[in-house]
Amino acid sequence: MTIAAPLKTVAKPTRKTRRSIASLLAPLEKIAANSPNLVANHDATFEVNGESYELARYLFVGPRGGDTPIRVGVFAGIHGDEPEGVHAIVQFIQLLEAHPELATGYYLSFYPVCNPTGFEDGTRHSRSGKDLNREFWRNSAEPEVRLLQAELQSRSFQGLISLHTDDTSDGFYGFAHGATLTKSLIAPALAAAEKFLPRDGRPVIDGFAARNGIIRQSYEGILNAPPKVRPRPFEIILETPATPPEYLKELALVAALQTILLEYHKFIAYAPNL
Ligand SMILES: [Zn+2]
Repeated sequence: MTIAAPLKTVAKPTRKTRRSIASLLAPLEKIAANSPNLVANHDATFEVNGESYELARYLFVGPRGGDTPIRVGVFAGIHGDEPEGVHAIVQFIQLLEAHPELATGYYLSFYPVCNPTGFEDGTRHSRSGKDLNREFWRNSAEPEVRLLQAELQSRSFQGLISLHTDDTSDGFYGFAHGATLTKSLIAPALAAAEKFLPRDGRPVIDGFAARNGIIRQSYEGILNAPPKVRPRPFEIILETPATPPEYLKELALVAALQTILLEYHKFIAYAPNL
């Protein structure tokens, strides 16, 4: 699917040279070329000021786990100046390739670079000047948002996980939305991340009331399931602080991701008996 973008350029790049998406994704391409578990999809393309871009998608098919596979979407880089989540997805897929059993029973859809122009430029906004994470389900003309909305609509995810970085926080925290059980997934995920980074225990984070690093409120227009979808999937946003060393931020995010999959799998396994 190709969608034309508005031509207006507002955002100013903060970098002299563009970050390379191709070299970032090279390890995943290599895995996808040889592995039966990982499928790369490069069909979601769009144009920005005459240049061609794509919303890279990777599907990791875990070993069969009995029932219908559990569909979870993992998203990063919707804010182009938050590369931690982007790198964490690359790391996580490499980990899954080495230990596919971690994904038993799952179809995992990964969207590592949701804002490709922002990632290249090192800007929060896309090159059209928009904060893409305020544009969802509001008739947005932004091609990245429209492509992601099409994915959210067609994949019927049972869970969504978004990775972010907060440069105003010294600790790891998260947002829990959607299904009621989200709270029982995010709590162990934050505990797992805490082995690598401190938790943000403040009562107010980013202007929202928080408890043990968990926020229940939300901004309007963030990446989430289509408004009419029932039942709601679990929706988790993980926020790593910006200042710690790269490897710790990635370890914390990867540990949290692993934990969410593990905990949700347990829930699904017990659910029929409830
Ligand atoms: Zn962000």
